Amino acid sequence: MRRTGVLALQGDFAAHAAALRELGLDCREVRRTAELEGLEGLVIPGGESTTLLNLMADEPWFEALSRFHERGGALLGTCAGAILLAREVTGGAQATLDLIDVTVERNAYGRQVDSFEADVRLLGSDAPLRAAFIRAPRFRRLGDGVEVLALLADEPVLVRQGRVMAATFHTELSEDRRVHDLFSRLVFEYDKNEERESRPAAGNSQFPIAVA
Ligand code: GLN
Repeated sequence: MRRTGVLALQGDFAAHAAALRELGLDCREVRRTAELEGLEGLVIPGGESTTLLNLMADEPWFEALSRFHERGGALLGTCAGAILLAREVTGGAQATLDLIDVTVERNAYGRQVDSFEADVRLLGSDAPLRAAFIRAPRFRRLGDGVEVLALLADEPVLVRQGRVMAATFHTELSEDRRVHDLFSRLVFEYDKNEERESRPAAGNSQFPIAVA
């Protein structure tokens, strides 16, 4: 069974774990860097990114997560998790993991609309996805290698670069499992990824983005 984890320092990690288990993945709560060992995918949940960073100061999380990414581990960051994964942050400077080439602005929807629900459009899927934006960030810049997977009106809200996915909304708060399902496809590519590293394949490998 595919082994995934959810960073369980803060935020709604239990709902992410439940979603991944529902999809047939093994999922453990990760509170120590050593618990990343043996995992093929990791979710960094939403919450509050500054608080999360403070909690992460207890252990060498930056090194551990970079190593996890380097060895082919798939990552999904939602909301505060996306802020942490980004290359750059505005609206409150803070450290980031720099694992996806985007700039995010924290708390970017302003006060009145701090939090809201909206239908987003997953590319390749006709049915709208109901999404919760809670003091959500916005992507302000996407690097060349970054692919858009979902839009709110015309604005990217779910993106991917290589084995890293970032969502500005809370993917765990609805019963809709399509985003976790996309993430699980990255997790299932884990071995193929290792194979690619040792024996580079000809041409570009395409991520299967079509959503049922
Ligand atoms: N506003 C939060 C931050 O800046 C993120 C909100 C969330 O994760 N729901 O970290």
